[in-house]
Amino acid sequence: MGSGRRRVNVDVLVVGAGLAGLHTATLLARRGHDVLLTERRPRLDGAIRTTGIFVRRTLDDFELPADCLGPPIRRVVLYPPNRRRPVTLVSERDEYRVGDMGPLYVDAARTATDAGVRVLLGTRYEGRGRSSFLLTGPDGPIRVRARFVVGADGARSRVARDLALDRNQHLLAGAEEVFAIGASDRPPTFHCVIDPAIAPGYLAWVVDDGRHAHVGVAGYADRFPHGMRRALTRFSAAAPGLDGVERTDGGEVERRGGPIPVGGVLRRISCVDGLLVGDAAGAVSPLTAGGLDPCLRLSEHAAAVLDDALSSGRPDALAHYDGATLRAHFRGRLALRHGLAHVRSPVVAAAAFAVLRTSPGQAAARRILFGDASFPNRPVSS
Ligand SMILES: Cc1cc2nc3c(=O)[nH]c(=O)nc-3n(C[C@H](O)[C@H](O)[C@H](O)COP(=O)(O)OP(=O)(O)OC[C@H]3O[C@@H](n4cnc5c(N)ncnc54)[C@H](O)[C@@H]3O)c2cc1C
Repeated sequence: MGSGRRRVNVDVLVVGAGLAGLHTATLLARRGHDVLLTERRPRLDGAIRTTGIFVRRTLDDFELPADCLGPPIRRVVLYPPNRRRPVTLVSERDEYRVGDMGPLYVDAARTATDAGVRVLLGTRYEGRGRSSFLLTGPDGPIRVRARFVVGADGARSRVARDLALDRNQHLLAGAEEVFAIGASDRPPTFHCVIDPAIAPGYLAWVVDDGRHAHVGVAGYADRFPHGMRRALTRFSAAAPGLDGVERTDGGEVERRGGPIPVGGVLRRISCVDGLLVGDAAGAVSPLTAGGLDPCLRLSEHAAAVLDDALSSGRPDALAHYDGATLRAHFRGRLALRHGLAHVRSPVVAAAAFAVLRTSPGQAAARRILFGDASFPNRPVSS
């Protein structure tokens, strides 16, 4: 699109170039549809909001560029608030790999462009007019007429609001520091600390894959006793697993953070004018807060439904994109989230560790951390 042109007609306008928007846009373009993807960030390798831990099922089922993935992690260490007698779980399989997210987003955008998607960076979706959507880019406003709009614009989706769809109400806030570390013979490890004083309602983590360390906290924003930033500083000063680890790259630290929807998939995620994917749709595991696998899987479903609607000319095809049906798969995880949200004192967290030290407790933890459960590929139709 030339800089002077201010009106565009497309089949689908996708708002947000996170993994959900990039994947949905690529799949639609590969099916021959005219897709415009708009992203407010001027570059995709900046302002990253995720640790980037990919679970085994995602690595098995989706093609991610191998050179953008860190070494496999099999070892998880769980710590109680006093950090004493941690529980170590080791899987026989490679369970996690941490994405080098900047290059990974850039690679996904290249794949989208190769498929025919027009990608506009530094271009914000402003809202919906009578017959078009308004964007503001570096060269001024752009009016887009689209048959459908896809809200891939994250946990606080503006598109969801404009389409009068459901919106995330139940959110955690997360923040982390990332830095390069020197190689050593430490096994790559995911350290998780359950301590309501540092991470109220969720956990604090150190992911050390031998190349980078991610040190983070997440929890209910209004329950951090002295705010999330202070909690991160405190945790980072005595983060487990990093004793004697050498920081490289001049000790440069990247800071990441953002909201995490944990209320489960929203019920109303489509209407005749469009639909929601990824965090905008609440597609995040309520228990683990993992959203990368769900956003890829839900994007596949979204692209199939939109393709059907565009090919048949029947916008009511979008009614098959139903969050209420998907939610049913998450009843168990929503109940466990409810339980985790109620761990409000170190005493309760320590009591949970007494259970974790038993064989049934460890078996349950292994099922959550190393199990095969994931977001359904396609919702069961109601
Ligand atoms: C600190 C933190 C750590 C996490 N770690 C993990 C993890 O290790 N593993 C895991 O599975 N999940 C993790 N998650 C969750 C996971 O990152 C998200 O579920 C996933 O990235 C969601 O992808 P998305 O494409 O839906 O949204 P996003 O990646 O948030 O993308 C939304 C995009 O929309 C753009 N946008 C928003 N509004 C507009 C607008 N008006 N106009 C144009 N563009 C707009 C944003 O700039 C953004 O690029 C983490 C989340 C947080 C906050």
